[in-house]
Formats: sequence, structure tokens, C-alpha cells
Amino acid sequence: MNATAIPEIDQSVLNRLRAAVGEAGIITDENDKAPYLNDERGYYTGASPMIVRPASTDEVSVVVDICNATRTPIVPQGGNTGLCGGATPYEHGSEILLSMTRMNAIRDIDVLNYTITVEAGVILANVQKAAEENDRYFPLSLGGEGTARIGGNLSTNAGGTGVLRYGPARDLCLGIEAVLPDGRIWNGLNGLRKDNTGYDIKHLFIGAEGTLGVITAACLKLFPHPADIQTAFVAVENQHATVELLARARRITDDRVVTFEYMQREAIQLALNHIADTRDPLPNIYSHYVLMELAAGEAAATGLRGVMETVLEDAMNDGLVLDAVLAESGQQSGDFWKIRETIPEAQKFEGASSKHDISVPVSGVADFLVDAVADLQNFMPGIRPCAFGHVGDGNIHFNLSRPADMSDEEFRSKEFDIHKIVYDRTVAMGGSISAEHGIGRLRRGDLETYKSPVALDVMRTIKASLDPNGIMNPDKVL
Ligand SMILES: Cc1cc2nc3c(=O)[nH]c(=O)nc-3n(C[C@H](O)[C@H](O)[C@H](O)COP(=O)(O)OP(=O)(O)OC[C@H]3O[C@@H](n4cnc5c(N)ncnc54)[C@H](O)[C@@H]3O)c2cc1C
Repeated sequence: MNATAIPEIDQSVLNRLRAAVGEAGIITDENDKAPYLNDERGYYTGASPMIVRPASTDEVSVVVDICNATRTPIVPQGGNTGLCGGATPYEHGSEILLSMTRMNAIRDIDVLNYTITVEAGVILANVQKAAEENDRYFPLSLGGEGTARIGGNLSTNAGGTGVLRYGPARDLCLGIEAVLPDGRIWNGLNGLRKDNTGYDIKHLFIGAEGTLGVITAACLKLFPHPADIQTAFVAVENQHATVELLARARRITDDRVVTFEYMQREAIQLALNHIADTRDPLPNIYSHYVLMELAAGEAAATGLRGVMETVLEDAMNDGLVLDAVLAESGQQSGDFWKIRETIPEAQKFEGASSKHDISVPVSGVADFLVDAVADLQNFMPGIRPCAFGHVGDGNIHFNLSRPADMSDEEFRSKEFDIHKIVYDRTVAMGGSISAEHGIGRLRRGDLETYKSPVALDVMRTIKASLDPNGIMNPDKVL
């Protein structure tokens, strides 16, 4: 669909939508609409005549039915924390923004089945809390968890810090209820761990970024609550030692590594320089660090600290680890995490930057880090790499700040070349140009360049089949 050719939404359509959800479900005031129309990163400011906030699956169904019949495009939105502009309407103003924020009921917790069933608008942190109150654990965890909502988490197949042990949102979802682009409700909301009755339809909606329908509810997996978590802040010899340490830790701990976050010194230094109440956990300065966590349930928790010490001593004897500190308290663990989680915020103080959310096989992470930095320093001497991320999943947030003596404008004028260097190397190593943030509006061109023509063709076929009128989040992803 050509975005510029979309006609203005007729007032009669707006009236029907208003009638479908009632006054409480409509926002038309310009000031009140503003927070829904700006994306998290401040890249896009969209327009829409109406924010529609249905309160039930039936209301979503009626809204989508009206939009389909009138060829009115819909942009679904959860917590609006997405990092690729997928939840922001285009500037032309001819799309309805469908906010899921009123659909925030927890429908059921089945402690014996280890599942929780929630509406799509439930905030991620509230799912974690509800699980905790029932002596269960929901492991999806990410920086935006106090705002992001489950429908958005599933639609972006969110990752975060627990993927190494528990998998991304896709792996945590057993069932989905969704409204199809023609308004029909598909109830796939079961809590089954085995169901081989043909295509697994829920996976079409997970990671689709709102382009195939509206997720209205989900049945999610729960886990036993870890009885002990040990957190270590570790200085490692180099990038290759980082990957070797992970492999050893998994073996020695019988796969109890739940978090393995890499940070290069430059990234840590940004947090220490710019974020209040951060301090270097180690007395000396090193080039590469890992934030590692082990977790265990009741039976295996005794002695977990000893297991962590064994892992670190073993690696220290072999020169992989140079120094390490184990958190003595929740407060100290929180201090370690604060450094890791504030790196993106701290980077904003250093002028223009170019960001990439790539993944390669875990075994290739070290080579990627060494080779991609060398490529970039050849291209732009003085460029400041700020790499960090979920190395346990092969996922690096490979961010680059402009050279200290270069203007933001000059750096931005070269961003296309920087992306190309990073993505060419990523794809040459069998990697992905978007490990967890998705495609949205921001990475559409890159998807076109780097996804295989066959895969793109299959994606377009699915889109055309489910959404022949192209009303669901047009010109996003594809
Ligand atoms: C500080 C911070 C840290 C972050 N860390 C991580 C991280 O570690 N890992 C990670 O993966 N992401 C991370 N993110 C990105 C973001 O939080 C996730 O992508 C999150 O899953 C988005 O959820 P949301 O509810 O905000 O979705 P939104 O931003 O509202 O929407 C995202 C996409 O999903 C679609 N959508 C939303 N709800 C629905 C629905 N019900 N049905 C159909 N489509 C829908 C939208 O149209 C859009 O395309 C981070 C963001 C911030 C701000």
C-alpha cells in the first residue's frame, strides 16, 4: 500500500468507531493524543484523527470489522516502548491508532499448569508481579518492563535479559487470542504444551508487529521461582575469553547461567561518567566485562555461591577471567545492573550515535566484535564503539558514537555506510540484522536488502492472505 495515497478517514467512520467503544474509549484532543503519536526514541511524530481504546475483545472485533469494511488502516499499540517506530502512525494522519491499554485484566492463573492468562494490555511488570504473588516466576524481563505490555512483547517477540535460560517471548507463549484483519476472533487461548493439530497459528502473530491482526490475550508459561540468584561482575581477558567463559559456565553449572551480559569498557565508562550513583565495581580498569547470573531452585540452591566461585576460579586459573566481584546483597546486585541498564541512556550524552541490534551464532560473537570494530575504525578513524548486550544469546547492541572531534551532522551523513559495514559483516556470519527490536518502520529498507527473496515472498504471501485489504499496520515490516 502506498502510504501517501491513503485518503483521509471519513467522519462517518469515526462516528461508528466512537459508537463501538463509547466515549471512554476515544481520544481526539490533540494534547491527549500526543503521547500515543510519538515513538520511544523520538524518531517519529505521527498523526491520527482518533485514538481508539477498546475495553474488550468483542470491542476490538467490532473496531477491526468497521476498519476493514471501510479500508481504514489500523496501527495497534501497547506500551509504546518499541524501538523501531512500529507503533507510531505515519505523518499523513489517515490511520486509526488502536491502543490496548484498557484491556488489562489478568484472566486466570493456573498454578498447577504453570500458566497465566492475561489480556494484551497488561503491563509486563504486572504479569511478573501476579506470578510472584502465586509463588511462580515469569521470566521475561527488559528495561521497558514497567511500561511495555504483553501484546507488544509478543508482537515484537521481545527478548531481554532472561532469554539464555527461558527463551524470548515466543518461547513463553502457549496460546493466543487474536482479532483477524477481517474482524473475526480467533480463540487459540489454550495452555497446552503439546498440540500437533496442524499449523501453529499463534506463531504467525508473534513477532508480526501488528501487521497480521490484533493480539487480544495470551496464555503464558510460568516457572518455579528461583530460590537463589548469584550475580557476578567479571573482568575478562578479551572477547574470545568472554565466549569461552560462557561455554564453561554452562557446563560446570549444569546450565544454570540465566544472564550473561557483555559490556566493553567504553560502554561502562559512559554509565560511570553520566549516570548518578554508579561506581566501578572493580578497583582496576579492564577492557571487557561480563555481568553473569546463576540461578537455582530450592533443591539446587544450596551452594550456588560456591558453584559461582568455582566457575570464576577455574576461569581465572586459565587466564580467561582477570578479576571478579560477587554481589553480597540485592542492593549490590542492583548496582551492577544499573551500570548495564543505563548504558543506552548514558550514550545520549556523547552526541550522535548509530545503533544496531544484531545477532550471530554465540560461537561467532568474539570474531564479530573484533572484526566489525576493525572495519569501522578503518572506515572512520576515531569512531567510538560502545558494544554491550545479551552475548549469551549471540545478541549484541552494537552501538557507535561519533568521533569526539566530528560534528553530529557529519556523522549522520555517513550513517548509511556504517549500517552497511555492520550488516554486511553480520549477514556474512549467518547473523540477523534485528535480534530483538524488530523491523517496524526503521529497518524496513534493511529487511528488503538483507532478508532472502524467498523469505520475503513467503512473508508477503501470508500478509496478503490474512490481510487482503492491507489495513493492519501498513508499511511496517514489509
Ligand atoms: C529502556 C528500554 C529497554 C528495552 N529493552 C529491550 C530488551 O532488552 N529486549 C527487547 O526485546 N526489547 C527491548 N525494548 C523494546 C520494547 O520494550 C519491546 O519491543 C517491547 O516488547 C514493546 O512492547 P510495547 O507494549 O511497548 O509495544 P509497542 O511499542 O506499543 O508496539 C510494538 C509493536 O507491536 C505492535 N503491537 C503492540 N501491541 C499489539 C497487539 N496487542 N496486537 C498486535 N500488535 C501489537 C505495534 O503495532 C508495534 O508494531 C526496550 C525498550 C526500552 C524503552
